[in-house]
Amino acid sequence: MEVQGTPKEQMNLGLKKQAKKNRAEANTHQIPDAGKNMQYDLYKSPLLRVYTEIEDGHMRMKTSGAASILMRKNLAKNLSIFEGEKPAKVEADRLICSTWMPPIPSPGFDRLVKSQLSSILGKMIPDQVTISITEECPNNCIHCALPDTKNRAKLTTETVKSTIDQILEMGTTFVIFDGGEPLTYPGLEDLIRYVDPEKAITGMFTSGVGLTEERARSLKEAGLYSLTVSFDSAYEDKHDYVRGRKGVFKSAVEAVKSGLKAGLLVNIYVVLSRDNVNELEELYTLAAKLGVHELSFYEIVPTGRWMDRASEIMTPEDMRKFDNFVSRVREKEGPKVFAIPQVMKATGCMAGRKWLHITPEGNILPCACIPIPYGNVHRDKVRDIWKKIREDPVYNAKCCLMRNPEFREKYLKIRE
Ligand code: SF4
Ligand code: SF4
Repeated sequence: MEVQGTPKEQMNLGLKKQAKKNRAEANTHQIPDAGKNMQYDLYKSPLLRVYTEIEDGHMRMKTSGAASILMRKNLAKNLSIFEGEKPAKVEADRLICSTWMPPIPSPGFDRLVKSQLSSILGKMIPDQVTISITEECPNNCIHCALPDTKNRAKLTTETVKSTIDQILEMGTTFVIFDGGEPLTYPGLEDLIRYVDPEKAITGMFTSGVGLTEERARSLKEAGLYSLTVSFDSAYEDKHDYVRGRKGVFKSAVEAVKSGLKAGLLVNIYVVLSRDNVNELEELYTLAAKLGVHELSFYEIVPTGRWMDRASEIMTPEDMRKFDNFVSRVREKEGPKVFAIPQVMKATGCMAGRKWLHITPEGNILPCACIPIPYGNVHRDKVRDIWKKIREDPVYNAKCCLMRNPEFREKYLKIRE
């Protein structure tokens, strides 16, 4: 049968068919009872109910109960992050707002709510901890946050497990295994299995190199919740150029497909630069075509190999392009977009406030991009170092500290 329409329409039709096939395989974006507005409780007590209702595939954040009016103001910022957004996945008995959050309902989500409530009262908990388990990596990205991946440092499984024990005890709800390339770490599955799913979800950041379908199934079986695969461009040659090696784009695409086939939640992660901000539509098309659950964006940070390139961060004009794109795709069919720069406008910088990072040498940093070791897991208790970081009021920043010239000069002795 001949396909009617212009070449662009035909391409869109082909794309829709491909996306439908991938989604059917991965069971993504499916709303079990599309005719009914489904409700999911975020918090429920005799005085207050906070819930989300799915209307036309978008989340509407609602409150009810006697304490509703009083609490709505306190909750406004947190609720605004999800109001009107698409969820990453809807199931009959649980809602996945984002691959970055435990599902609703789940014990991990209850712990996250507890953490949010305690932060209203001034007590901060490191909700999200990234553990760079190894520096080993087959790639050579021009913007890598690790200034040197040649020294091959890695944490022992005992050290990582002890760190996991400590952060779960502190209230962490999202443990992310990062690198280098975490897939090169022997015993990765053992570490994933070690994280108590009653307390936290697990994630992994990967370039995709080495992720076969068999490995993806092994990670899923170990309990991995979400797989995050990095893309710098929708174009193979540009992506491989940034990653410093040919073939990485193909590996990333294969990793996404393998993750979906294995039943993992899959997130594509793009660090926005002044270059790839001009291919937002193409990145969205790629994510839709692959059928991922979420497409997340961060903003380039002058750190690691990019440390002396503070002048190459996004301009206000670039950010306007991004804001317009985010509004446009909200109504489009396809994956949820998680725009972290926009989220941070509501929440402020997360470094040392909600996030904590452990390097392959064991150093404890306020976030993966701030190269200031406040302690080391080989000699310090994470709780003590968190307390030390929290004593410095700078870690309540509204905007990115690593893009703040005053912070860079005072804390890193960098003058631009
Ligand atoms: S950014 Fe990630 S994939 Fe690239 S060199 Fe660094 S650790 Fe490897
Ligand atoms: S300093 Fe804050 S905004 Fe900047 S990279 Fe770290 S957490 Fe993100």
